[in-house]
Amino acid sequence: MLVVMQAHATEEQVKAVCEKIQALGYRAHAMPGAERTAIGITGNKGEVEAGTFEEMPGVHELIRVTKPYKLVSREIRQENSVISFPGSDATIGGKALAIMAGPCSIESREQAFAVAERVTQAGARFFRGGAYKPRTSPYSFQGLGEEGLRIMAEVRDHFGLKIITEAIDHESMDLVEKYADIIQIGARNMQNYSLLKRAGRAKIPVMVKRGMSATLEEFLMAAEYVMSEGNYRVLLCERGIRTFADHTRNTLDLSVVPAVQRLSHLPIIVDPSQGTGKRNKVTPLSRAAIAVGADGLIIEVHHQPDKALSDGMQSLYPEQFDELMAQVRQIAPVVGRTVSGIKTQIPAGLSADEVVVHTTPAR
Ligand code: PEP
Ligand code: MN
Repeated sequence: MLVVMQAHATEEQVKAVCEKIQALGYRAHAMPGAERTAIGITGNKGEVEAGTFEEMPGVHELIRVTKPYKLVSREIRQENSVISFPGSDATIGGKALAIMAGPCSIESREQAFAVAERVTQAGARFFRGGAYKPRTSPYSFQGLGEEGLRIMAEVRDHFGLKIITEAIDHESMDLVEKYADIIQIGARNMQNYSLLKRAGRAKIPVMVKRGMSATLEEFLMAAEYVMSEGNYRVLLCERGIRTFADHTRNTLDLSVVPAVQRLSHLPIIVDPSQGTGKRNKVTPLSRAAIAVGADGLIIEVHHQPDKALSDGMQSLYPEQFDELMAQVRQIAPVVGRTVSGIKTQIPAGLSADEVVVHTTPAR
């Protein structure tokens, strides 16, 4: 159920409704919107008695949410959710595209810094990198663990990038929450419900990657798990699904982007690196992802991909990432989006807006 407040309802009235919901033994989720606040009720087994709330001051109406996912749904929040970070201009879900880039795994301080320098210069605002890697083989590189997180925190301090990294279990989640800016839930864990609930109690945003065989509804329900615990700063990521096609590692399902956007207010970004598994397909699919309306990209970049300890085949060389960004810069305005500028030295006497950012034409 959803309590829709009147446009001019006061904070006290919203609070009173939340308290009433809690007194009945349910959970209240207040979602302020541009027009009005809606309060989601979860934890109720049956129908909530409408009359209980309809007479309360500031309440407009009570609506039954028809979808199994409630807090994720556009029924509770009509406008897009934008995730922001205090003290930073980085956003996810707003007009500016969220560009995340970095190696598959953090391998050393030197590697992380070499890649971070290049992706920062190219205009990325987020640095990706795995410290805990869910590998198919137990004999493959499993990540540097906490040491990898420490390196990422250094990257944040040095380059001003926001850090996104995967937590694979409860233990790693405690550490990821301590060091990172965004927790990544990997495809293999999309239906690890206890991990999703733990992420829902974290104080930082959570990115839920689509499971390899997850339907749209299952994908949204995974995000619902996180939100149901009170963490509303959630974004989704399409990273390819398993199909019979064998020309790519996975089949990047770009049609899920508008499908998600129709049903949900949450931002959705695309990972063409896991999505294709092939370096030469990452840039074309990135162009397509932006054109289809994705809120951003997460891209694997390595300064020496042939020496990478994981996913070298799908990692771009830094020059290729520069080119990808140049192309994305050309497509973004066509779909009403912007891309943050390349970090250049601003000549004395000029403001940042006056600095011309040169881009190379798309192929
Ligand atoms: C990754 O981002 O390197 C990764 C392992 O992603 P996924 O969970 O989508 O396979
Ligand atoms: Mn990877």
